[in-house]
Amino acid sequence: MIVTKLELSNFRNYKLLELDLDKQTNILYGNNAQGKTNILEAIYMCSTTKSHRSNKDFELINFDSDEGHIKLHINKNGREQRIDIHLRKNKSKGIAINGIPIKKASELFGVFNVIIFSPEDLNIIKNGPSERRKFIDMELCQLDKIYVYNLVNYNKVLSQRNQLLKDLYFKPELKQTLDVWDMQLAKYGGEIIKRREEFIKEISNILIPIHNELTDNQEDIEIIYEKNCETDDLYEKIVTNREKDIKYKNTSVGPHRDDVLFFNRGKNIRTYGSQGQKRTIALSLKLAEIELVKSLINDTPVLLLDDVLSELDSKRQNHLLKSLDNIQTIITCTGLDEFIENRFKINKVFQVTEGT
Ligand code: ATP
Ligand code: MG
Repeated sequence: MIVTKLELSNFRNYKLLELDLDKQTNILYGNNAQGKTNILEAIYMCSTTKSHRSNKDFELINFDSDEGHIKLHINKNGREQRIDIHLRKNKSKGIAINGIPIKKASELFGVFNVIIFSPEDLNIIKNGPSERRKFIDMELCQLDKIYVYNLVNYNKVLSQRNQLLKDLYFKPELKQTLDVWDMQLAKYGGEIIKRREEFIKEISNILIPIHNELTDNQEDIEIIYEKNCETDDLYEKIVTNREKDIKYKNTSVGPHRDDVLFFNRGKNIRTYGSQGQKRTIALSLKLAEIELVKSLINDTPVLLLDDVLSELDSKRQNHLLKSLDNIQTIITCTGLDEFIENRFKINKVFQVTEGT
């Protein structure tokens, strides 16, 4: 699939923008703070309904306005489609697919597939477990409707159960209602764990050969989904932990506490890996993601590369750019020297200056 055109009004520092993109490699270049990432952010939002760098929709609306619009024209299997996002201050956003408003954000998942690669991806390796869970969830939500259903329900049940754990302090008689939530938590949680484990296996099968090539077989990578409970024992363990949960007013067992561990020669990369090793894993992860998404959707996702080329050595740059054949890519950078020096193929170049 490809993006053919992006239209923005009052989005970040864009008062008005109309951008016709090439189906291959597009470059957005310009000085810092001109609006390059803002364009990628707008495109990314049309895939997941959320920004990759902000949780607050009002931040996305131009300072001088009360509402903003993103209009994305895509071509998917030869069919033109349009995604509209209408951002409003103090109100939830409106989303429409081909002019028809959708009721739930999750209806947008899977319509438009993008993969974003930005310097913040290093956080997937470096930061705490929530970053890695978010990575898996964002990926699976684009690929698997059943996963979205289970995740939405799990999160709903989890927050209701946590609320109940707080209420029990004042109304202990409500304790008997806990079991209803526990059964549901175990049901949806079990499905989430199963699918995440599968995903990690799939991605790891693709990642390992890529990583071996990037590191000339000098490293030995293993990726493990670390769950705090076996699927089949989930209900039992939730029940066993009830008293503790009541005491701490929080749910202690379930996939919302799981993690993904990356090992090199048996040592955890998060703890022992160098900056370069972490960066290489992050790159391999993204390259593997491209291959996995391609095979699952039988189409190519759109790739957004935010400022990442300058952080990679030439071997890794080449590897990345080599894997971009036949995939629409939008690259941001501050200068074009690297592309010219390495004779990388570029199809369209845009200079970005103060939101134009
Ligand atoms: P860099 O090379 O540093 O990454 P960039 O070109 O990617 O820069 P962006 O992050 O796309 O920069 O845009 C940053 C600019 O957008 C800043 O000038 C910032 O003030 C402006 N900006 C951010 N949010 C808004 C908003 N809601 N309204 C108007 N301008 C905004
Ligand atoms: Mg930027």
